[in-house]
Amino acid sequence: MCGIVGYIGNRNAWEVVIKGLHRLEYRGYDSAGVALIDNNQLNIYKKAGKVSDLEQFSRGKNLSGSIGMGHTRWATHGAPSDRNSHPHTSGDGRLAIIHNGIIENYATLKEELAARGHHFSSDTDTEVLIHLIEEILKQNHVDLREAVRLALNEVVGAYAIVIMSEDEPGQLIAARKGSPMVIGVGNNEYFIASDASPIVEFTKNVIYLKDNEIAFLKRNELLIKSIDNTVQTPYIQELELKLEMLEKGGYDHFMLKEIYEQPRSIQDCMRGRIYPKEGKVQLGGIKEYTEKLKNIDRIIIVACGTSWHAGLVGEYLLEEYARIPVEVEYASEFRYRNPVISEKDIVIAISQSGETADTMAAITLAKEKGATIFGICNVVGSSIPRISHAGIYTHAGPEIGVASTKAFTAQVTALTLLAFYMAQQRGTITQSQLINLLTELDEIPALVEKSLQANEKIKAIAEKFIHSRNCLFLGRGSGFPVALEGALKLKEISYIHAEGYPAAEMKHGPIALIDEQMPVIVIATKNSSYEKVISNIQEVKARKGIIIAIVTEGDTEVKKMADYVIEIPDASEAFLPLIATIPLQLISYHIAVLRGCNVDQPRNLA
Ligand code: GLU
Repeated sequence: MCGIVGYIGNRNAWEVVIKGLHRLEYRGYDSAGVALIDNNQLNIYKKAGKVSDLEQFSRGKNLSGSIGMGHTRWATHGAPSDRNSHPHTSGDGRLAIIHNGIIENYATLKEELAARGHHFSSDTDTEVLIHLIEEILKQNHVDLREAVRLALNEVVGAYAIVIMSEDEPGQLIAARKGSPMVIGVGNNEYFIASDASPIVEFTKNVIYLKDNEIAFLKRNELLIKSIDNTVQTPYIQELELKLEMLEKGGYDHFMLKEIYEQPRSIQDCMRGRIYPKEGKVQLGGIKEYTEKLKNIDRIIIVACGTSWHAGLVGEYLLEEYARIPVEVEYASEFRYRNPVISEKDIVIAISQSGETADTMAAITLAKEKGATIFGICNVVGSSIPRISHAGIYTHAGPEIGVASTKAFTAQVTALTLLAFYMAQQRGTITQSQLINLLTELDEIPALVEKSLQANEKIKAIAEKFIHSRNCLFLGRGSGFPVALEGALKLKEISYIHAEGYPAAEMKHGPIALIDEQMPVIVIATKNSSYEKVISNIQEVKARKGIIIAIVTEGDTEVKKMADYVIEIPDASEAFLPLIATIPLQLISYHIAVLRGCNVDQPRNLA
């Protein structure tokens, strides 16, 4: 998720690594650390905070050595702190690891290792992996290369890792599965990084390590194997991208990069939490409150902005599946009222940063009145999770673009998991229903990926509306919050006035605005309200409005009426928000870019 840099060669490794970590700062992170080998001895320096804090901390220490690695961490397991920062070491301190990603089965592995006498000095999933390698080295009498390979075969999850050992001080071992990793090929030197930005100033020759590959690097030797032990032929390619483009992963803007990251971020949010075959949802962060969940009277969701829209989707899902009344409140209104709250309420705070002031004040008030507080946040260890009794991290990774995209779909994913979990606990869903829903949920990242393929078409549609002054977004059921979010996205980045409405409410006011100048974006997918939405489309057409319809793949009926259609893959109504949001993000993005707006930093927003 965040940043990795490694170096082996003849230069001073600290300098290469620190420079590389600075180059990766744009990715967002909460802590940084390095490991260096000098005179066959590992030196590790790590700190919560910025790379510059790490530099300050390391001043005057031994920074020699021509082999080293560095990490910027975006916490997923364990709050940001010095002890949770990477590198982590084995029990004997002779092995060190840096890791980006999530080890899904870390809890089981940790228990087994603890039973064998391992002690852990952090709360991370990463530390478990290096202890596992240490254990295999001891038990199987194999060399380090083989121990790493065997350990990776036991690991479920996503990782990009680099490993160093005091016992083999002339070697770096790198591997990846699901998290990116590039190797730079120099003259008797190699560079490793999570993207090419730390490497590009040293060499243009790079190898993109593939999933399930392990690279063994010495100063003048590189061997790549797959984790099933077959030797791979490395493919060296030349970098052509500019540094600035690299930081954005080749995309023009962070917003677009983050829109395209959604298949991954949704997957990361579900990682280790759903077991479709068994029909099981596991939410470690709220496990202790399972009994409480069975006996509560209602849920109140408090949030602001995009998170409030995620809350509305949550209301739909929790009422539908867990059969519990839900109220969704603007945190800023809730906190200044005298809300009626009791011990039988659960108040859920949703916030990407975990620092939203109004949301924090709202839960502080609710907590005083005896409610149980859950946080749904992206930033591990931030204020809201700390005030909350329990919660679910969204694991979407840092969001750099100011307009929220992947954080929203991750929040919706977390709420979907919560709804299914509560439904199971409260007995409001059958096991076979749950198996079906989870099997479908597991496929959602692939469907989101498919929705992204409409990008070029969406761009062509966007071109027609760059001079629009208003825009209406309509939806029903769970499509209504999607319409609200679509309108918010358009207004915040393109400065076109936009409103989201429940489609049926249009006739009670907004219909007066409709004329041949008015684009109306309608969520018209094939679900329970399909026929009704068709009637709403006709109402707009009768007043000469321009219809842009988001339809289910293969739809023929709406196509006859709409001026433009964007197809999305078919999915159950429960998952509609995750898929239908994608084209709306893209249309806002393209309209804003074509209007010359700064989409990553819209005016007046922070
Ligand atoms: N899961 C690891 C941790 O929480 C790695 C996080 C990252 O990708 O930065 O430490």
